[in-house]
Amino acid sequence: MELAAAMDSGGSLGGPSCLTPDREDRPVPAVTEPDRIPVPAWHLLDSRLYDQVAPVMSARGCPRRCYFCAVGGRRAKVRERPLADLASEINCLKALFHADLVEFLDDTLLSFPRRVDGLADLAAGRGLPWSGQGTVGDVLRLAPRLSVLVEKGLHGVFLGVESGSDAVLRHLGKNVRREDVRRAVDLLFSAGVKDVVLSFILGHPWETERSLDETVELVLEMAAQGARIQVSHLIPYPGTRVGDHPESLGVRLLEAGWEMYDGTQPLVVVPGVSADRVHERYLELLDRLTAGLMPGKVERHD
Ligand code: SF4
Repeated sequence: MELAAAMDSGGSLGGPSCLTPDREDRPVPAVTEPDRIPVPAWHLLDSRLYDQVAPVMSARGCPRRCYFCAVGGRRAKVRERPLADLASEINCLKALFHADLVEFLDDTLLSFPRRVDGLADLAAGRGLPWSGQGTVGDVLRLAPRLSVLVEKGLHGVFLGVESGSDAVLRHLGKNVRREDVRRAVDLLFSAGVKDVVLSFILGHPWETERSLDETVELVLEMAAQGARIQVSHLIPYPGTRVGDHPESLGVRLLEAGWEMYDGTQPLVVVPGVSADRVHERYLELLDRLTAGLMPGKVERHD
């Protein structure tokens, strides 16, 4: 708040601090109310080592309950931080990191149109483009307003697509089909969104050779359209349904140390296709993506 006040008054920043409310080296008590979530102590980072991006979490939690996701697995309601706190944090990051993009890291920001409007105004009011995350269904619902959001600085969208198979998508309960993925990506690029990132998982409990084929095909198609791709094995994180109750999904977890939990190795045995075969398809997909695309288009972790 000190920094925002200094900036608003046109005064000297004089070494911005962006301190958390507790300035002592004491554990900060658990936060139960969103307006008590402190601004991270960004001033402790060496800004020269980081991109000029302002990573801001405007809300915590997600209303959905995806079986692989620790955020949904907590079953906590969505807690939104006050816009005034966010304005202060963005001012801080702009000053410290010379940020030229606000990256809203909320798990499903695009599911909340009112919130999207408020944050777009916040970023646009500071002359900064912004990016946010959501689902394919969110993009379809926002379709009539995408151009306006682009005018208000919408630069990038991250979508958890998860699969290119209608059969698997049905189990995921996101209420979209592979055709909707194509439509959403087309809508985003047509509206002028510059950076579209799609995330996929291989090795869902309902995976088969056919569903893997369909996912590989859709991934390559979307990459050719200009989307950036993230692809990972299914990771059975603690706190998720697949991590805590794999039997309820008809799968078995492989013994593995935490160092294996990075998405590059098979960790789950599913009924319809062997773990080795899922891994073959994963490596094949990475090879095809990196062979066919410009460097930097694919986030490869192997
Ligand atoms: S994967 Fe995304 S939509 Fe699903 S519970 Fe997690 S944050 Fe929510």
